[in-house]
Formats: sequence, C-alpha cells, structure tokens
Amino acid sequence: MSSTVYLNGDWIAAEHAKVSVFDRGFLFADGIYEVVPVYSGKPFLLERHLARLYRSLREIGISVADDAFWHELVHDLIKRNNYGDANGLIYMQVTRGAEASRTHLPGPDLKPTVFATINPLALHWDQPAPVRITLLEDIRWLRCDIKSISLLGNILLKQQAAAVGVIEPILHRDGLITEGPASNFFAVRNGALYTAPKNHLILPGISRDWVIELAAEAGIPVHEEPFKVADLPQLDELFLTSSSREVQPVGQIDDIIIGDGQCGPVTAALIEAFHASKRRHLGRVS
Ligand code: PLP
Repeated sequence: MSSTVYLNGDWIAAEHAKVSVFDRGFLFADGIYEVVPVYSGKPFLLERHLARLYRSLREIGISVADDAFWHELVHDLIKRNNYGDANGLIYMQVTRGAEASRTHLPGPDLKPTVFATINPLALHWDQPAPVRITLLEDIRWLRCDIKSISLLGNILLKQQAAAVGVIEPILHRDGLITEGPASNFFAVRNGALYTAPKNHLILPGISRDWVIELAAEAGIPVHEEPFKVADLPQLDELFLTSSSREVQPVGQIDDIIIGDGQCGPVTAALIEAFHASKRRHLGRVS
C-alpha cells in the first residue's frame, strides 16, 4: 500500500510527492532532518526529538512554524498511515526552499520545504546479537551537532565499513573516539560507562541521553569525556545507541575482541532497562 506523506501543507501519496530541482536541499543539501521512533502508534521521547529539530533549525537560520504545528504533523502522519497500533520511524526534513537560480548565498525570502514520512520499524524485545565493527578516521565536517541532510561523509564511511563486511564503523579524530556515522558509542570499563562529550564533533543522540539517564537510575557511573583509541584493547564491553537500534552490543572491533566477544552484563542491564522504559511508555507493567 502506498504511504501518505506530508509535503508543504499537502497530504499526498508518496509516489506523487515532488520538489523543485532548484530546491536548496537538492542543490546544496541545505537542510536538516529528524527521526522519531513510534511504538504502537505512540512517538517515543517526542519532546526531545522536537527540541533537537528546533535546535538544528535555529543553528542554520531557518524558522518553521511552531510547536503545535510539529505535534499535529506527527499525530496526523501516524493517523493517516494507520500506525495506531504499529511501530514506525518518522522522518521529517526541512530545507531552506527553492530559488529561481543556483547561488550559494541564500536569498532573504525563501519559503522552507517541509517533508515528512513514516516507515515500518521492526521493534524488538530481545537482546540483539553482538556485532563486529571497524575503526575509521572521522572525515566528516566540524558541525556534527547539527542533524544536517548533508551526509556525504557518513555515506563514504558506511561504504568503507560495508566493504569490510561490517554494518557500522566507529570513528576517531586525532586518536579520540567520536561516534558512528549513524550511532553514538559507549565503552564500559570497570563497571563504568564512557562516551564522548556533547560538542560540535558528535550528534547529541536522543538514545545516548536516554541511556545515560537509565544508567544513572541503575547506579552505573557515566563519564562524558574523550575516550582514546589506545584504550580500546582494555575495554570490558562496548555498545552503540540510536533510535532504530536502541542499545546494540559490539563484540569485536577489527582484530580486537571486546571482553569475551559476548554481550556483557552492563550492556545487558541497559538493554533490559531500555525495554522496561518502552513498556512504561506503552502503559504496560514494567
Ligand atoms: N550519531 C549520528 C551521526 C546519527 O546519525 C545518529 C542517528 O541517526 C545518532 C548518533 C543516534 O541518534 P539518536 O539516538 O537520536 O537516533
């Protein structure tokens, strides 16, 4: 069945959604996006995702509608696509809009292009199998805190990882781990969590912050500080976080086996805490 998407005020079948070739999103990747998971028709951590969307918009100087508009958009997207009991991933994108000709400097009176769609999400309640990842140099720009649609660096890194048969690399700059091209990174050593601090070098992941809060509730110490590549061999556990993966254990980085290569106890506890928070969100007994 064709999905119904939102484009600039209209609700239309996905295959009929079209934008101008002069849209600055198409010509320059001049825009931002946001992804919100939906569990049984209910958007998870929506206020946080919208706060990050507004920040991204502010950082690139686009103003679009108000809080009520975005809440209604999310609500209508779920309703019109019959996701009332289903799990999905909402994708929302705002570009600076279309101009008569291509110039780097945007004109003053552009009307932003707003697009939103929802796709199925396979929600899991189990403990995902540990994956193997690879370490690559972070070649992306220096404003990774903005959720920009300009993802060429991320794509090249994903291709490089796929070429050695892994789904996600982790990245380093000058010997310090930043994140993955589509995930944040957590190391576990002596029962404590380590993750890169929030600054211009990483996306402030909503799942990252959620896991930090779940860890605090569970009494697990968290250090938001630079983590050295040189310390990777001494790790007990390692996992990645993102809205679509939640908490993904890692068993191996290149030739380095993490711990015994299995999902460790701290990671397992956080996976269970994450599932419990989803059950609470759905109004189910935890
Ligand atoms: N880091 C990057 C570069 C990402 O693209 C993503 C998500 O796509 C994340 C981290 C994880 O963010 P979130 O937990 O908000 O999905």
